[in-house]
Amino acid sequence: MKPLTRKEGPGREYFRLDVTKLASGADLRLGLHVVTGAKPGPTLGILTTVHGDETMALIAVRDLLNSLDVATLSGRVAAIPVANPLAVSVFNRQTPEQHGKTDLHEVFPGNQDGNLTQRMASVITANLLDHVDALIDIHCGGLGGRLQSRTDLDASAPSDVYEASLRLCRAFNTSFLHANNLTGTAARYCNGRGIPTANPEIGGVYLGPQAEAAYVAEAVAGLQSIMASLGMIATNPRPEKKQLLFGVKSRFEVNPSVGGFLQSNFSTPPDLGRRIEKGTKLGEVIDLYSLEVIEELLATVTGYLFFSRYSGVVDAGTKAFALAEEATSTWL
Ligand SMILES: [Zn+2]
Repeated sequence: MKPLTRKEGPGREYFRLDVTKLASGADLRLGLHVVTGAKPGPTLGILTTVHGDETMALIAVRDLLNSLDVATLSGRVAAIPVANPLAVSVFNRQTPEQHGKTDLHEVFPGNQDGNLTQRMASVITANLLDHVDALIDIHCGGLGGRLQSRTDLDASAPSDVYEASLRLCRAFNTSFLHANNLTGTAARYCNGRGIPTANPEIGGVYLGPQAEAAYVAEAVAGLQSIMASLGMIATNPRPEKKQLLFGVKSRFEVNPSVGGFLQSNFSTPPDLGRRIEKGTKLGEVIDLYSLEVIEELLATVTGYLFFSRYSGVVDAGTKAFALAEEATSTWL
């Protein structure tokens, strides 16, 4: 359990983890930050930018690490803020490579003899996931202009791990909790080893200074609240608010079936969490060439908006809006 490549004693360290040498001649390495407190306690692992265009959270992790006082910290925080440097460097969701799975969120625990994506996963598993007592893998809306406000946990986790994950998710304190079901995530790998996880999906990128600052502050507060719930820092966890828990069967996406310019009717942070009646117009798609409206996007159920999209160019199938159906979701 121990390694995390550090010597004993309180302090903050930064390591570069070798993955491989690239065709460009550059060495592919992952940066690992470890902050060890003066008191014993659990090891909290943090991953961000598993999707390379979801960069907001790495700034939240920077703020969190800078806020820690090793003299009063119990346990360790270990963070890899850039999980996929190749995807981040081209501001894209997935790794720019030709063969195999290129979505890092689908390949854990990875393979040290596999493609670049699998090799990065393998290094993250060996150096982070195998040494933590809890894992937070933070995502956000990406380059397409999506806004997010929820925390995911894995619905297929064993019940005790599910309950411990639910406590982490509740402590993070988003309005929505989503019992999701994704294979190949770092969370699923950890859950299989009895380690609880939370996957916040919060904010987005290029939101403008006000919204971005608010979301970063919310992410830092959420992480501190999780640390408090684990007894790592002295402050109290944030008071629990009413949160809506929903599974994959309660998730209703409304996405365009044609490409064009999406004129969004729900594109500000306060729009997330709004109760929306079935049939409400969420947005419309304007043909880029004829300039006519070619599709209206209507809510297919009555529920609560948990992601939405700014106005902008979309293609058929681009993720635009999602509702948690009221009738089948549960208020906690
Ligand atoms: Zn993501």
